[in-house]
Amino acid sequence: MDKVKCKSCQSNVIPRLWVMNGGWFHYRRNQHLCVICGVVMYESGGEVAFERIWLVSGVVGLVIFGIGGAILVVAAYLLKGKIRKVLQGLEDKKEIKGKFLKYFDSLRSIKGKEK
Ligand SMILES: [Zn+2]
Repeated sequence: MDKVKCKSCQSNVIPRLWVMNGGWFHYRRNQHLCVICGVVMYESGGEVAFERIWLVSGVVGLVIFGIGGAILVVAAYLLKGKIRKVLQGLEDKKEIKGKFLKYFDSLRSIKGKEK
C-alpha cells in the first residue's frame, strides 16, 4: 500500500482503515486514518444505497396511499348522507345531478324491497 502524506502532521504514512458500518441509506464507509495523529485523511465507500431508498419509499407510499384510500372509502360511506344533501342542493342547477339522485333513489327502493 502506498504511503500518503498526512495533511495534518505532514508525515508520510500508510493510512489505517477504520470501517464504519453502513446504515439503511448508505453502504459501508471506510475512513482512512493517519497512524501518527489519528486524523481522518480521506474516506472511501459510503455510497448512497438508492435501491434501498426506492424500496423504503415504495413501502411508505403504499402504506400512506393504502390507508389514505381506505380512509376515503370509509369517509365516503360515513358522509354519504351529507353528500346526498349536497347533490340535492345542486339539483336545481344541474339536471345531471338530479338524474344521479333519481338513480340513487331507485337503488334505495330496490334495497328496501329486498328487506
Ligand atoms: Zn497525521
